[in-house]
Amino acid sequence: MYEAAVAHFQATGKRNLLDVAIKNADLIARTFGPNPGQLTDVPGHQEIEIGLVRLYRVTGDKRYLDVARFFVEMRGCQEKRTKLYGQYAQDHAPVVSQSEAVGHAVRGGYFYAGVADVAALTGERAFIDAIDRIWQDVIDKKLYLIGSVGQHGAGEGYAGAYKLGNLNAYNETCAAIALALWNHRMFLLHGHAKYADVLERIIYNGFLAGVSMSGDRFFYPNPLECDMRFKFNHGDLERSPWFSCSCCPSNVVRFLPSIPGYVYATRDDDLFVNLFLAGRATMELGGETVELVQDTRYPWDGKIRITISPKNARRFSLRVRIPAWVRGDVLPSDLYRYEPAAAAQWSLAVNSEQVDAALIDGFAVVDREWKPGDIVVLDLPMPVRRVRSHEQIEGNRGRVAFERGPLVYCVEGADHDGTVREMWVPDDTKLVARHTEDLLGGVTVLEGKASAVYRTGDGTVASRSKAITMIPYYAWCHRGANEMAVWLPCSSERAVAPPLPTIAGTSRATASHCWRADNIAALNDQIEPARSDDHEVPRFTWWDHRGTVEWVQYEFAKPTAVSTVSVYWFDDAGRGGCRVPASWRLLYRDGNSWTPVQATGECGTGRDCFNSVSFQPVTTDALRVEVQLQPGFSGGILEWRVDGAGPSSKVSSKNRT
Ligand SMILES: [Zn+2]
Repeated sequence: MYEAAVAHFQATGKRNLLDVAIKNADLIARTFGPNPGQLTDVPGHQEIEIGLVRLYRVTGDKRYLDVARFFVEMRGCQEKRTKLYGQYAQDHAPVVSQSEAVGHAVRGGYFYAGVADVAALTGERAFIDAIDRIWQDVIDKKLYLIGSVGQHGAGEGYAGAYKLGNLNAYNETCAAIALALWNHRMFLLHGHAKYADVLERIIYNGFLAGVSMSGDRFFYPNPLECDMRFKFNHGDLERSPWFSCSCCPSNVVRFLPSIPGYVYATRDDDLFVNLFLAGRATMELGGETVELVQDTRYPWDGKIRITISPKNARRFSLRVRIPAWVRGDVLPSDLYRYEPAAAAQWSLAVNSEQVDAALIDGFAVVDREWKPGDIVVLDLPMPVRRVRSHEQIEGNRGRVAFERGPLVYCVEGADHDGTVREMWVPDDTKLVARHTEDLLGGVTVLEGKASAVYRTGDGTVASRSKAITMIPYYAWCHRGANEMAVWLPCSSERAVAPPLPTIAGTSRATASHCWRADNIAALNDQIEPARSDDHEVPRFTWWDHRGTVEWVQYEFAKPTAVSTVSVYWFDDAGRGGCRVPASWRLLYRDGNSWTPVQATGECGTGRDCFNSVSFQPVTTDALRVEVQLQPGFSGGILEWRVDGAGPSSKVSSKNRT
């Protein structure tokens, strides 16, 4: 509300919402503080700190800065508070003694942004040193290539050094936004381009993927891989219009219109150009107006034309960011590296004359007298960059990613016959950039010849050349749910050859009921579980139906002679409410009715194994497993195989190319 109130006031000059925010902030400032009768608590979910600082900046009322600083100081302060929220909420130790980013990623991002605000406005060394240490920890060990943080299974937060799995990346859209707010404040604090480099990485990648091109659908988590099994988006494989806790959509609404505010900055006689966006801006420099007009096709093209018009001719230093990706650095750390890491030859001209601008803190600095209508042309070459990651990031070992300009790229099933897991990129693969207006609202794609593994008729794995098309990561998942990967194997060993088609694998699976977080496709995904309580593989369950009669069925592509089925039951005794069923039977479709097969053995309910049943062969177009669940319990299946009655149970591989 504070942020909205300040934005509303700045945009319209109206005070009505600002006055509401002030009334509320006055109550907060009365209630919390170091004086007798005041509370020393802190918010469970940080964010009020940056709102209070914005109110301070616009009203000049120091009480708001004081209470923001108080919340920052009380966090982790054991002497003054009876109960701490712990590491999850960065409330385990005073921030001035913290050195690592921990806990919930969104809480952390807002908190660190608030600390940076307090550090900048108070100038106190202990705050500045602490926030510098924590920022470097993120950049050294915890940032995803797309510029976001957090993992599933780690409380939506920091999982530790180099724990950057791709499939289970959480990268909440809010975490990217909080990280952007933090990095912008770090820039304001230090005036170094490295923070704007990270900000740009977030804006074009980790943040932008969170909202659809239509603007009305959202990702909550933003993984770097999609296998079509793990429903990462809170039970969905595509962007959703809303969530039960719908922080991300409303956060996008706040952040998108704030982006123009990050493009430029001023300090005394310095004018900073941080981001490259076509547009017109007016700002005050030393009490006089300067107008800037940017003309560019960025991020598709690195040519940027800036027309500079001070009201009267005057001297100041123009500081234009030369992005890290131009200079050959992914980040100011060894977390990722370009191969090769050579800097691209950028150039800067003023009124058509090349200028040998000094590079200071990541900015090309041109200090001269500027006259109305002076034109700066910046040329930032955009080679296709191969990215390798630190060896400690397990999931990225032997893999490569691609970038061009500020954009991280990915491959999608939509461009590769539905699957990307079989693809790999030999070292000598040449990718060429091509702009197309016909795809995804107009994008530059990277194209070339890569490789893919496949199975020969006898099941051995071989490799063949395959055309590859990479799209900007932010644009993924606009052509239906589909497989996606950012990090691609560099060798065939890490690529996954699709299994040979089987009767089950080519069947259509349905069920009497499927729990929304589970997946009917688990039945015939040909992924073998290790145990009945294996939580690492996709599963199907009838949860939360308990004690009922339920079924699953396969419909075959065509009538097929079958004689054996094998069922691997899911059973999470000790952890959840699913058990092997009390009993079950197998039915086949016979015209319009379901008829039990004549089993030659018992229908087993063993744990940790396939329960196989053979029966008098039948030729049918569908099979059904009907279970009686145990009283009070639900149940599920991890894998269900079907064997044919013929000499070979495999469908001929010749049918598949
Ligand atoms: Zn969110």
